[in-house]
Amino acid sequence: MAETTHCKQCSEPMHRQVIGTLSGEDGALKIAVANFPALVCGRGHRQFITGDFPIKLLQQVMKGDNGGLPAGKKQGMLFKKYQCSGCGAALGSDGAPRAIGRDVSVAEDAELHVEMTVPVYTCTSCGREQLRSSDDIAGHAPAALAHLFQAANLKPPG
Ligand SMILES: [Zn+2]
Ligand SMILES: [Zn+2]
Repeated sequence: MAETTHCKQCSEPMHRQVIGTLSGEDGALKIAVANFPALVCGRGHRQFITGDFPIKLLQQVMKGDNGGLPAGKKQGMLFKKYQCSGCGAALGSDGAPRAIGRDVSVAEDAELHVEMTVPVYTCTSCGREQLRSSDDIAGHAPAALAHLFQAANLKPPG
């Protein structure tokens, strides 16, 4: 474990450090990850701490319970409509963004805090709060994380 990793771009030795809070978004989903660890070389190039770090982080993000919020039902192939998961009334188009935070463990020594911001819809008929659809997080998480990695100049493994 003590062996030194060398930068794939310039061959300088790399050291692990926390590079701060990274964020990315796709569609209505925003993801911010605090305490993000990376390998950084003397010239500032960045790599993931392990090759499977990005996919493990995605798995952790996807397996959540949406902050305990139920998800409405999506209908229609072309013109999408959303129904309340409680009473079936149509949901409006005026969701209010809410942050859902979660601590995730990506590696044994990498504890991160992930915050996902998604619109939460309150049914005007029965008052139930919910995501419009379970796709609101799962459908956008891969692209939101890809944007987060690109913005931070983190190179994909390999
Ligand atoms: Zn380098
Ligand atoms: Zn309802």
